Amino acid sequence: MARHRYIPELHDLPVTEDLCPLCGRPLGMANIDRHHLIPKSLKGREQFPIHKICHRKIHATFSERELLRAYHTWEALQGNPDIQAFIEWVAKKPPGFYARTFTSNNKKNR
Ligand SMILES: [Zn+2]
Ligand SMILES: [Zn+2]
Repeated sequence: MARHRYIPELHDLPVTEDLCPLCGRPLGMANIDRHHLIPKSLKGREQFPIHKICHRKIHATFSERELLRAYHTWEALQGNPDIQAFIEWVAKKPPGFYARTFTSNNKKNR
């Protein structure tokens, strides 16, 4: 019997899921935010990579209080008619859609 049983730590979760938890499209490389699904005041640390545009939509649609009370799961968020409309809309956009605001070569010249 092996004693060495691997118990994954909570904060050791693999970040291999490259799909946006809100809209389900690939995350891509640019314009990625992190959303605290459970606000810090409760538990804290769970952060999920999410499209910047999707993240903005969440916070534009719900207040902190609403997020805390009712919309602390992706299922709940996706079940909201507003969000559903958004997901349908954004599904037709290219993954890097938010990338309109590219910061072009903004190197500091000395
Ligand atoms: Zn998204
Ligand atoms: Zn957030």
